[in-house]
Amino acid sequence: MFLIFLGGFWFCLWQLMHRQTPENPGFATLPPLNEGQRPVTVVPEAPPPKSIVIDPGHGGEDPGTQGNGMFERQGTLPIGLALAKELRNRRYNVVLTRDTDSTLSLESRAKIANEPGRVCFVSIHLNYSDTPKSNGIETYYGWPKRWDVLKDLRQSRKLEPDQDILDHRSKLLAEAIHRSALASTRATDREVRNNPALLVLNSIRVPSVLVECGFVSNKSEAEKIQTAEYQENLARGIADGIEQYLNAASSNADYGIEIVNTKATGGKK
Ligand SMILES: [Zn+2]
Repeated sequence: MFLIFLGGFWFCLWQLMHRQTPENPGFATLPPLNEGQRPVTVVPEAPPPKSIVIDPGHGGEDPGTQGNGMFERQGTLPIGLALAKELRNRRYNVVLTRDTDSTLSLESRAKIANEPGRVCFVSIHLNYSDTPKSNGIETYYGWPKRWDVLKDLRQSRKLEPDQDILDHRSKLLAEAIHRSALASTRATDREVRNNPALLVLNSIRVPSVLVECGFVSNKSEAEKIQTAEYQENLARGIADGIEQYLNAASSNADYGIEIVNTKATGGKK
Protein backbone atom coordinates (compact mmCIF):
# COMPACT_ATOMS: atom_id res chain seq x y z
CA MET A 1 0.00 0.00 0.00
CA PHE A 2 2.77 2.36 0.97
CA LEU A 3 4.63 1.52 -2.25
CA ILE A 4 1.54 2.34 -4.33
CA PHE A 5 1.25 5.68 -2.54
CA LEU A 6 4.97 6.40 -3.05
CA GLY A 7 4.73 5.46 -6.73
CA GLY A 8 1.73 7.80 -7.18
CA PHE A 9 3.60 10.61 -5.46
CA TRP A 10 6.65 10.26 -7.74
CA PHE A 11 4.43 10.10 -10.81
CA CYS A 12 2.71 13.38 -9.86
CA LEU A 13 6.05 15.04 -9.15
CA TRP A 14 7.45 13.87 -12.50
CA GLN A 15 4.40 15.29 -14.29
CA LEU A 16 4.81 18.67 -12.55
CA MET A 17 8.50 18.85 -13.47
CA HIS A 18 7.94 18.01 -17.14
CA ARG A 19 4.79 19.98 -17.82
CA GLN A 20 5.70 21.71 -21.08
CA THR A 21 3.26 22.56 -23.79
CA PRO A 22 3.51 25.29 -26.48
CA GLU A 23 0.88 27.32 -24.59
CA ASN A 24 2.52 26.77 -21.27
CA PRO A 25 6.25 26.54 -21.92
CA GLY A 26 7.21 26.49 -18.24
CA PHE A 27 10.56 27.58 -16.83
CA ALA A 28 12.77 25.42 -19.06
CA THR A 29 12.27 27.52 -22.22
CA LEU A 30 13.58 30.78 -20.69
CA PRO A 31 16.91 31.55 -22.38
CA PRO A 32 19.96 31.45 -20.12
CA LEU A 33 21.27 34.81 -18.86
CA ASN A 34 24.15 36.19 -20.93
CA GLU A 35 27.33 37.43 -19.37
CA GLY A 36 26.66 40.69 -17.48
CA GLN A 37 22.90 40.41 -17.91
CA ARG A 38 20.97 41.00 -14.73
CA PRO A 39 17.92 39.03 -13.71
CA VAL A 40 14.70 40.98 -14.16
CA THR A 41 13.43 42.40 -10.88
CA VAL A 42 9.77 43.21 -10.40
CA VAL A 43 9.37 46.84 -9.33
CA PRO A 44 6.32 47.31 -7.10
CA GLU A 45 3.77 49.72 -8.52
CA ALA A 46 4.30 53.27 -7.21
CA PRO A 47 1.48 54.52 -4.97
CA PRO A 48 -0.72 57.17 -6.61
CA PRO A 49 0.54 60.73 -6.00
CA LYS A 50 -1.09 62.55 -3.10
CA SER A 51 -3.47 65.12 -4.50
CA ILE A 52 -5.99 67.73 -3.43
CA VAL A 53 -9.36 67.57 -5.19
CA ILE A 54 -10.90 70.92 -6.13
CA ASP A 55 -14.52 70.85 -7.24
CA PRO A 56 -16.01 73.91 -8.98
CA GLY A 57 -19.74 73.47 -8.21
CA HIS A 58 -22.48 73.12 -10.87
CA GLY A 59 -21.53 73.87 -14.50
CA GLY A 60 -22.81 73.10 -18.01
CA GLU A 61 -26.52 72.31 -17.95
CA ASP A 62 -26.64 72.99 -14.21
CA PRO A 63 -26.25 76.78 -13.79
CA GLY A 64 -26.69 76.75 -10.00
CA THR A 65 -28.31 79.72 -8.34
CA GLN A 66 -28.54 83.17 -9.95
CA GLY A 67 -28.78 86.84 -9.12
CA ASN A 68 -27.64 90.25 -10.36
CA GLY A 69 -27.18 88.96 -13.89
CA MET A 70 -24.83 86.14 -12.99
CA PHE A 71 -25.18 82.38 -12.62
CA GLU A 72 -23.40 80.49 -9.85
CA ARG A 73 -21.46 78.41 -12.40
CA GLN A 74 -19.89 81.61 -13.80
CA GLY A 75 -18.21 82.22 -10.45
CA THR A 76 -17.36 78.70 -9.27
CA LEU A 77 -15.20 77.77 -12.27
CA PRO A 78 -12.82 80.78 -12.23
CA ILE A 79 -12.48 80.55 -8.41
CA GLY A 80 -11.76 76.79 -8.69
CA LEU A 81 -9.19 77.39 -11.45
CA ALA A 82 -7.52 80.18 -9.44
CA LEU A 83 -7.39 77.90 -6.39
CA ALA A 84 -5.85 75.04 -8.41
CA LYS A 85 -3.24 77.46 -9.80
CA GLU A 86 -2.42 78.80 -6.33
CA LEU A 87 -1.99 75.28 -4.90
CA ARG A 88 0.14 74.13 -7.86
CA ASN A 89 2.38 77.17 -7.35
CA ARG A 90 2.86 75.83 -3.82
CA ARG A 91 3.91 72.43 -5.29
CA TYR A 92 0.75 70.50 -4.46
CA ASN A 93 -0.79 68.02 -6.89
CA VAL A 94 -4.30 69.12 -7.75
CA VAL A 95 -7.13 67.25 -9.42
CA LEU A 96 -10.02 69.38 -10.69
CA THR A 97 -13.36 67.57 -10.98
CA ARG A 98 -13.97 69.83 -14.00
CA ASP A 99 -11.90 72.55 -15.67
CA THR A 100 -14.42 73.58 -18.33
CA ASP A 101 -18.06 74.68 -18.19
CA SER A 102 -19.31 71.09 -18.28
CA THR A 103 -22.08 69.12 -16.57
CA LEU A 104 -20.98 66.72 -13.85
CA SER A 105 -23.15 64.72 -11.43
CA LEU A 106 -22.60 64.83 -7.68
CA GLU A 107 -21.88 61.08 -7.76
CA SER A 108 -19.10 61.60 -10.34
CA ARG A 109 -17.55 64.31 -8.17
CA ALA A 110 -17.62 62.03 -5.12
CA LYS A 111 -16.17 59.16 -7.17
CA ILE A 112 -13.20 61.31 -8.23
CA ALA A 113 -12.67 62.30 -4.58
CA ASN A 114 -12.74 58.67 -3.42
CA GLU A 115 -9.96 57.51 -5.76
CA PRO A 116 -6.68 56.43 -4.11
CA GLY A 117 -4.15 59.11 -3.16
CA ARG A 118 -6.61 61.92 -2.43
CA VAL A 119 -5.83 63.94 0.67
CA CYS A 120 -8.82 66.27 0.82
CA PHE A 121 -11.74 67.63 -1.19
CA VAL A 122 -12.89 71.25 -1.47
CA SER A 123 -16.07 72.17 -3.33
CA ILE A 124 -16.60 75.77 -4.46
CA HIS A 125 -20.10 77.28 -4.48
CA LEU A 126 -21.89 80.63 -4.39
CA ASN A 127 -24.85 81.47 -2.20
CA TYR A 128 -28.29 83.03 -2.66
CA SER A 129 -30.66 84.77 -0.26
CA ASP A 130 -34.03 86.47 -0.68
CA THR A 131 -32.57 89.19 1.53
CA PRO A 132 -30.41 91.19 -0.90
CA LYS A 133 -28.13 92.55 1.81
CA SER A 134 -27.02 89.05 2.95
CA ASN A 135 -23.32 88.64 2.19
CA GLY A 136 -20.19 86.80 3.26
CA ILE A 137 -18.63 83.36 3.38
CA GLU A 138 -20.00 80.22 5.03
CA THR A 139 -18.15 76.93 5.08
CA TYR A 140 -19.67 73.46 5.43
CA TYR A 141 -18.53 70.05 6.59
CA GLY A 142 -20.74 66.99 7.00
CA TRP A 143 -20.87 64.71 10.03
CA PRO A 144 -21.82 61.94 10.41
CA LYS A 145 -20.69 60.53 7.08
CA ARG A 146 -22.76 57.97 5.16
CA TRP A 147 -22.89 54.45 6.67
CA ASP A 148 -20.53 52.89 4.09
CA VAL A 149 -17.91 55.60 4.67
CA LEU A 150 -18.22 55.10 8.44
CA LYS A 151 -17.87 51.34 8.00
CA ASP A 152 -14.65 51.77 5.98
CA LEU A 153 -13.36 54.23 8.56
CA ARG A 154 -14.03 51.75 11.38
CA GLN A 155 -12.28 48.98 9.44
CA SER A 156 -9.27 51.14 8.59
CA ARG A 157 -8.78 51.87 12.29
CA LYS A 158 -9.49 48.25 13.31
CA LEU A 159 -12.13 49.24 15.87
CA GLU A 160 -13.53 46.79 18.40
CA PRO A 161 -17.33 46.37 18.49
CA ASP A 162 -17.57 48.46 21.66
CA GLN A 163 -15.58 51.34 20.18
CA ASP A 164 -16.89 54.24 18.15
CA ILE A 165 -15.08 56.73 15.96
CA LEU A 166 -15.57 60.48 15.74
CA ASP A 167 -13.92 61.99 12.67
CA HIS A 168 -13.34 65.72 13.21
CA ARG A 169 -11.01 66.09 10.20
CA SER A 170 -13.53 67.74 7.86
CA LYS A 171 -14.53 70.19 10.60
CA LEU A 172 -10.87 71.07 11.24
CA LEU A 173 -10.28 71.58 7.51
CA ALA A 174 -13.45 73.71 7.27
CA GLU A 175 -12.35 75.88 10.22
CA ALA A 176 -8.86 76.39 8.77
CA ILE A 177 -10.22 77.31 5.32
CA HIS A 178 -12.93 79.56 6.75
CA ARG A 179 -10.51 81.47 8.98
CA SER A 180 -7.97 82.14 6.26
CA ALA A 181 -10.55 82.91 3.54
CA LEU A 182 -12.06 85.59 5.81
CA ALA A 183 -8.59 87.00 6.51
CA SER A 184 -7.69 87.25 2.82
CA THR A 185 -11.02 88.70 1.62
CA ARG A 186 -12.32 90.59 4.69
CA ALA A 187 -15.73 89.13 3.85
CA THR A 188 -18.51 88.80 6.46
CA ASP A 189 -18.17 85.76 8.73
CA ARG A 190 -21.22 83.51 8.25
CA GLU A 191 -19.62 80.73 10.27
CA VAL A 192 -18.62 77.10 9.81
CA ARG A 193 -21.70 74.87 9.64
CA ASN A 194 -22.47 71.17 9.70
CA ASN A 195 -24.67 69.71 6.95
CA PRO A 196 -24.51 65.89 6.83
CA ALA A 197 -27.19 65.80 4.09
CA LEU A 198 -24.90 67.03 1.30
CA LEU A 199 -23.73 64.13 -0.88
CA VAL A 200 -20.37 65.68 -1.73
CA LEU A 201 -19.64 65.87 1.97
CA ASN A 202 -21.12 62.69 3.45
CA SER A 203 -20.01 60.18 0.79
CA ILE A 204 -16.36 61.22 0.53
CA ARG A 205 -13.76 59.36 2.60
CA VAL A 206 -11.12 62.07 2.82
CA PRO A 207 -11.72 65.35 4.71
CA SER A 208 -14.24 67.24 2.62
CA VAL A 209 -15.50 70.80 2.74
CA LEU A 210 -17.88 73.00 0.78
CA VAL A 211 -17.22 76.75 0.67
CA GLU A 212 -20.05 79.16 -0.13
CA CYS A 213 -17.76 81.94 -1.32
CA GLY A 214 -20.32 84.78 -1.42
CA PHE A 215 -23.85 85.77 -2.51
CA VAL A 216 -24.87 86.26 -6.13
CA SER A 217 -28.00 87.92 -4.66
CA ASN A 218 -25.91 90.72 -3.14
CA LYS A 219 -25.12 93.30 -5.82
CA SER A 220 -21.71 94.44 -4.61
CA GLU A 221 -20.58 90.91 -3.67
CA ALA A 222 -21.72 89.54 -7.07
CA GLU A 223 -19.67 92.23 -8.80
CA LYS A 224 -16.63 91.56 -6.61
CA ILE A 225 -16.79 87.77 -7.18
CA GLN A 226 -16.48 88.34 -10.93
CA THR A 227 -13.18 90.21 -10.64
CA ALA A 228 -9.88 88.33 -11.04
CA GLU A 229 -8.50 90.18 -8.01
CA TYR A 230 -11.20 88.91 -5.64
CA GLN A 231 -11.02 85.39 -7.10
CA GLU A 232 -7.27 85.36 -6.44
CA ASN A 233 -7.80 86.66 -2.89
CA LEU A 234 -10.29 83.88 -2.24
CA ALA A 235 -7.97 81.30 -3.79
CA ARG A 236 -5.05 82.46 -1.64
CA GLY A 237 -7.14 82.33 1.54
CA ILE A 238 -8.58 78.88 0.84
CA ALA A 239 -5.13 77.57 -0.14
CA ASP A 240 -3.69 78.95 3.14
CA GLY A 241 -6.33 77.00 5.08
CA ILE A 242 -5.71 73.78 3.16
CA GLU A 243 -1.98 74.14 3.72
CA GLN A 244 -2.39 74.78 7.47
CA TYR A 245 -4.60 71.71 7.80
CA LEU A 246 -2.27 69.45 5.77
CA ASN A 247 0.76 70.62 7.76
CA ALA A 248 -0.99 69.82 11.04
CA ALA A 249 -2.20 66.44 9.76
CA SER A 250 1.17 65.45 8.26
CA SER A 251 2.85 65.21 11.66
CA ASN A 252 0.04 63.24 13.32
CA ALA A 253 -1.71 60.26 11.69
CA ASP A 254 -4.53 60.54 14.24
CA TYR A 255 -5.08 64.27 13.73
CA GLY A 256 -8.82 64.91 14.12
CA ILE A 257 -9.65 61.27 14.86
CA GLU A 258 -11.22 60.46 18.22
CA ILE A 259 -11.92 56.91 19.32
CA VAL A 260 -14.45 56.55 22.12
CA ASN A 261 -15.37 53.55 24.21
CA THR A 262 -19.09 52.79 24.13
CA LYS A 263 -18.94 49.93 26.66
CA ALA A 264 -21.08 50.60 29.77
CA THR A 265 -18.62 51.42 32.54
CA GLY A 266 -20.73 49.62 35.21
CA GLY A 267 -20.44 50.09 38.95
CA LYS A 268 -20.94 53.87 38.67
CA LYS A 269 -24.04 55.33 40.22
ZN1 LIG B 1 -24.16 75.59 -5.34
